[in-house]
Amino acid sequence: MSESRDGTTVITQCDEIRALVRRAQQHDQTVGVVMTMGALHEGHLSLLDAARKDCDITVTTIYVNPTQFLPGEDFEKYPRTLADDVTAISRCGGDYVFAPSNGEMYSPRFSTYVLPPKVAERFEGAHRPGHFRGVTTVVLKFLQVVPADIAYFGHKDYQQSLVIRRMVEDLQVGTSIRVCPTVREPDGLALSSRNRYLDDTERQNALGLYRALTRAQELVKRNELNASRLRHIMETILVESNISRIDYIGIVDPETLIDVETIDEPAIALLAAHVGTTRLIDNVLLAPIGTSFR
Ligand code: AMP
Repeated sequence: MSESRDGTTVITQCDEIRALVRRAQQHDQTVGVVMTMGALHEGHLSLLDAARKDCDITVTTIYVNPTQFLPGEDFEKYPRTLADDVTAISRCGGDYVFAPSNGEMYSPRFSTYVLPPKVAERFEGAHRPGHFRGVTTVVLKFLQVVPADIAYFGHKDYQQSLVIRRMVEDLQVGTSIRVCPTVREPDGLALSSRNRYLDDTERQNALGLYRALTRAQELVKRNELNASRLRHIMETILVESNISRIDYIGIVDPETLIDVETIDEPAIALLAAHVGTTRLIDNVLLAPIGTSFR
């Protein structure tokens, strides 16, 4: 069953989208997929733009995946704005939206999960046990249903992008993974569907995440390469921004997510903190002078 709007077709059935993707590829068309939970913003749309540049056909999936939420998290209240999302995708020139129901994705007999790779253990994996198992499982399922040539993910969820890159490599999935830069508000706050939970004061406080990360970047450029000193400074900035509940502040190797002591090679600074009742994550690359990232 599909419904068309301004050149964008909404599909809800796995068999239908799989057949469309296969048919396109048989006609030598390349397919790009962008996986989202909807409530789309410019960050999501930047992935779609990248897919449109690289590929002949684009599929944007919209699905709030229950298996990646822990009990007590915001699964029920997560914003669901399908009609607006389809309008935004159609304005961007997206070809297909795949928006399956829970019943379509998980049969009552469902019981097979993907064990996430080692890079899933720390940070989000430690603070949200079971989250990455839900992510790897649903992403692999989507790659079965939408066997695209390239799948696009955001740097904003850096650990997630690494988990997916490893899974695709380890399980020899035939889709290439492309990771695109984080899109930010003019003042630096990383776009997130969860930003809409913030009231005005929290919105101001949330900037502390970006301030802490960019301060670390500045200090690295000025040759402060001691990771524990940098972490301490970042923590102070978060506390000064009235962010008292910090889940983690990490300065790590970009490929292994193992702590670095001295930043003599490019590293990732990543953090998660609660602003009011909203949990936000962000990260930046720390590149000491004279180094380059991959
Ligand atoms: P979500 O809907 O939050 O699951 O995100 C879907 C995809 O969009 C993921 O690959 C995210 O990393 C990516 N994404 C979310 N926010 C941003 C952002 N601000 N900039 C770039 N990509 C983003």
